Amino acid sequence: MNETTKANLLGLTQPQLESFFESIGEKRFRAGQVMKWIHHFGVDDFDAMSNIGKALREKLKACAEIRGPEVVSQDISGDGTRKWVVRVASGSCVETVYIPQAGRGTLCVSSQAGCSLDCSFCSTGKQGFNSDLTAAEIIGQVWIANKSFGTVPGKIDRAITNVVMMGMGEPLMNFDNAVAAMQIMMDDLGYGISKRKVTLSTSGVAPMIDELGKIIDVSLALSLHAPNDELRNRLVPINRKYPLAQVLDACRRYISRLGEKRVLTVEYTLLKDVNDQPEHAAQMVELLRDVPCKINLIPFNPFPHSGYERPSNNAIRRFQDLLHKAGHNVTVRTTRGEDIDAACGQLVGQVMDRTRRSERYIAVRRIGDEAAPSSGAADRT
Ligand code: SAH
Ligand code: SF4
Repeated sequence: MNETTKANLLGLTQPQLESFFESIGEKRFRAGQVMKWIHHFGVDDFDAMSNIGKALREKLKACAEIRGPEVVSQDISGDGTRKWVVRVASGSCVETVYIPQAGRGTLCVSSQAGCSLDCSFCSTGKQGFNSDLTAAEIIGQVWIANKSFGTVPGKIDRAITNVVMMGMGEPLMNFDNAVAAMQIMMDDLGYGISKRKVTLSTSGVAPMIDELGKIIDVSLALSLHAPNDELRNRLVPINRKYPLAQVLDACRRYISRLGEKRVLTVEYTLLKDVNDQPEHAAQMVELLRDVPCKINLIPFNPFPHSGYERPSNNAIRRFQDLLHKAGHNVTVRTTRGEDIDAACGQLVGQVMDRTRRSERYIAVRRIGDEAAPSSGAADRT
């Protein structure tokens, strides 16, 4: 068996690892032992697994491996935010960001190299799409980050208390791998993170929200960004396929299945003069009237030639106040890690685009630059 045909144990959930051991004629309980070595102790060498006999270690070495994505770089921002660029098997690079806050640490994980959904204000979308990440490449980002904080033998490191699937890509377009990775995050033999603290963010792939609800109970975030279909069709093109009413119905179903007073997180990227006006806030209040939710406003993070601008602090506060007065719990996401390009929507990695969208985007940018050198804030669509 050569390198490429070895089973990569990093991305296997506990039941999958049990089946693997059975398939090689070994006892299922070995799965628990190996998972602990991999995820609690960050081990990638079977010889380090001291409670596994030499014969089995040799057998594992011949047919299996523990291989995370290759770390290309690691940066630490002035505010403590860390960013890793990792190379995945397709050759593209994706980014992972760790955000330390008082009493917790949140890891923002990528699920795809690029994204096929092409939201108009997202730099990942502008990179086009290359590939889905494997489950090993998704959980591998947690594995790498966790190891960088130093694993203490005998105890799980608690630097990472929360994981958000809010890096590059649309996790519901890479469903099976995203689900497997989240199962490992929540498994006590993996990272033991509570279901409330693992959050999947989606731009609204409605049927897959229902599928998700059948197998997992992680927290859900919806990237809303517009309170009516006309505007959302332009900002979030997947809305043309799954309009607001359909997406919100799926979210309501998902949340009601969870019970336990859990709520949807509604993410809303504020774009100056595009979706930040009082009438948008009023429509949003109406739209979310019967949706148990908390709202997270994300001031737009600029990237070159986006054609959008971040609203003024006053406009952000005005929008927040209007929602707040209507009884909503509203927070404004503070921008972290900007000096290392780690903020929301600034993650670009290095996508070997298969869609040629990035080429077209660059061409349009060039024409735009020649025609109008001062970038306007107008809605480009
Ligand atoms: N594909 C998923 C998850 C990744 S994007 C989704 O769309 O939900 C994570 C969040 O960052 C989304 O809410 C996204 O809309 C937001 N975002 C993207 N580009 C941004 C930008 N330039 N400024 C601020 N937020 C942005
Ligand atoms: Fe994809 Fe999310 Fe970016 Fe939209 S916002 S292009 S769904 S990563």
